Amino acid sequence: MRLDDFDNDINVEDQRGQSFGGGGGGGLLLGLLPMIGSRFGCGGIVVVLIIFAVFGGLGNLGGLVGGGGSSAPTRSERSAGAGGEGGTGAAAACGVDAATKATCNAFSSAENTWEQLFARSGERFQAPKLVFYGGSGQSGCGAAMSAMGPFYCPSDQGIYIDTSFYDELANKFGAAGDFAQYYVVAHEFGHHIQTLTGASERVRRAQQSGSEAEGNAMSVRLELQADCYAGVWAAQNRNRLEPGDVEEGMTAAQAIGDDTLQRRGGGRVAPESFTHGTSAQRQAWLRRGLETGDPAQCDTFSGAI
Ligand SMILES: [Zn+2]
Repeated sequence: MRLDDFDNDINVEDQRGQSFGGGGGGGLLLGLLPMIGSRFGCGGIVVVLIIFAVFGGLGNLGGLVGGGGSSAPTRSERSAGAGGEGGTGAAAACGVDAATKATCNAFSSAENTWEQLFARSGERFQAPKLVFYGGSGQSGCGAAMSAMGPFYCPSDQGIYIDTSFYDELANKFGAAGDFAQYYVVAHEFGHHIQTLTGASERVRRAQQSGSEAEGNAMSVRLELQADCYAGVWAAQNRNRLEPGDVEEGMTAAQAIGDDTLQRRGGGRVAPESFTHGTSAQRQAWLRRGLETGDPAQCDTFSGAI
């Protein structure tokens, strides 16, 4: 996919090479998150993050861990060129290497696309921020760790990317290519859109009152909508697509379906534990976005998925 260079006014932070010395609720998540699972999308993690954001820490998760967490956005305003702790301008942060720049380009394109879509429907758009981390970092939702894969933190509206995940995607999951990477960014951007539309909040509320299986089912619908939104972004930039892009996206969607991942892990395929949807569902909703280019076609919450 031929993307323009990122706009310089995108909000980018680079946490790589910084050290984070505990504090707040960050460290508290360290022990918990790896158990929840890690892969692009991080539905289980999103659930935790939302709980974290709303209740202000893990102290409220059944008293497992004491102490209050910090749920306050660390940096919500645009920081381009601001410098200071944790902040670097887009040009500096995005110029680190090719994978970083590609991520910035996709993020910038998604921001422009969604800003226009919101403007067309008369809704107010709020830009997220893009945060690069490596090894371990800090998010408004607690510690960011590479094992978590890419994720979106609702409380600071940040999309957190460790670009080493792209290598994992290519080498471990067999999903190589630039569009597979853009799909990751566009999917996480989709979660930001869900925060703006209120879908994430509605799911969180439903999850509070339902069983674990019902909560997982809601997570699947949320994740599939993010896949559809990723497709919408690509469709809105259809003239930039190159031969093979759609196939790369489909390969990635196939590789990270819950059933495929569970089969890979040698375990039983347990639909009630799905949080992201099957490979077939992920492909279908990505394709739906790609074919329609219309966010209204991404209603995964009513009817069959
Ligand atoms: Zn997701």
